Amino acid sequence: MERMRTRLGGEAEAFFSALEKKPRTSVRLHPYKGADLFPEAEPVPWHPLGRLLPERPDFETSPLWHAGAYYVQEASGMSLRAFLPEKRPLRVIDLSAAPGGKATLILGELGLTGGLLIANDPDPHRRAALKENLERWGIPAYFITGRHPHYWAERYPEAFDVVVLDAPCSGEGLWRKDPQAACQWSPQLVRRMQRLQRSLLFAAKALVAPGGRLIYSTCTFAPEENEENLAYAFDKAEEWSPVSWNAPPSEAYPVRYANGGIGYYFYPHRSPGEGFFISAWERVDGMPLHRRAEWRWSSAPYSLPEGIRAFTRGEAIYALTEAAAALLPPNWHQEKWEAFPLGTRHRPAHAAALLAGGMAQAFPIRGLSEEDFSLYLRGESLPAYAPIEWVTVQGRGVGWLYKGKPSLPFTWRRFLRHRRP
Ligand code: SAM
Repeated sequence: MERMRTRLGGEAEAFFSALEKKPRTSVRLHPYKGADLFPEAEPVPWHPLGRLLPERPDFETSPLWHAGAYYVQEASGMSLRAFLPEKRPLRVIDLSAAPGGKATLILGELGLTGGLLIANDPDPHRRAALKENLERWGIPAYFITGRHPHYWAERYPEAFDVVVLDAPCSGEGLWRKDPQAACQWSPQLVRRMQRLQRSLLFAAKALVAPGGRLIYSTCTFAPEENEENLAYAFDKAEEWSPVSWNAPPSEAYPVRYANGGIGYYFYPHRSPGEGFFISAWERVDGMPLHRRAEWRWSSAPYSLPEGIRAFTRGEAIYALTEAAAALLPPNWHQEKWEAFPLGTRHRPAHAAALLAGGMAQAFPIRGLSEEDFSLYLRGESLPAYAPIEWVTVQGRGVGWLYKGKPSLPFTWRRFLRHRRP
């Protein structure tokens, strides 16, 4: 409280009382599948597809949520968009990507032609959520990996135009959303997180190509984890320059720190989102170590939208945009990863139904009403007229229906298991 009083002066009481209020719900619309949704909702000032909703809907029963037409994300984190460079194509790595808020934002920006995202997170449980979220989003320009950032730094120095480090932190900005985070807080936690973040920052720096950017963010207000870390990491760094936000909104509170750095805080009394800090640095241009992986395509089992192609590993078939394949770093064939699954030659994967750009040319379409969708969601078998039908609700793909044996895709089964009391 002392720290926040010193920082915010006359605004401190408004800050403390905002921490007692209910968080606001916001969503980010999918650029291909959902850009026209929630037309009445208040826009998020720093993201053209961000919407603030008047109340929290029941997302899990919403067909549009299942179709990946929007992603539920608190508003402050959407500011990442302002720090991405305009250049395309882009090679991006998100070092701590789970459950996928920033990663889906980046994929939305890259679209089907704008580049490659490596979505990395060392935590296997959180990675499972990341996988589901990226499949639902349906833009196959990514690979998911589970390495420590130092592994990346050693194997792929200077390989990325953008390195995102949305670091694990003490979570002060999440207290009203997750009261548990307040119970776990201690000054020791802040110091422990600072040590971890500094080590991650050095790995992240090593990955940035000449002319590229490092974007650092946390969801804490602790300066030790934010500007103090950046001042430390970018000390004596002549080959780096700070990136400032071109037209920062009044909701973002700027802080200047050593070496000319500038960061932005989102405080709950000024901004509709949760607590957040973001700051970026750019490496001066120079000779890149430009090396690329050789990439082999295979014939697609279904006709895929333009710009997307198929490749195989064993029996499994995956989708990838041509733009992403063109940017893969060397030695990529040695890596362990998960990509966007299309299924096998005999059966499409659940994710294939969610592909941005649609599967309409490949399968007969089965449009469901919202009532039929809720039966489908509950696992009740609906009659199919063709061997495989592409199930859509309001024109967006949500899954498959098989003639004969009713068979729910894996992700539905898991979802239904979670829903049982
Ligand atoms: N970027 C995510 C999003 O927007 O949805 C949120 C990331 S969360 C703030 C921090 C993440 O850091 C967690 O998913 C956690 O698993 C990951 N993490 C923990 N230790 C890490 C480490 N040593 N290196 C990289 N990531 C780590």
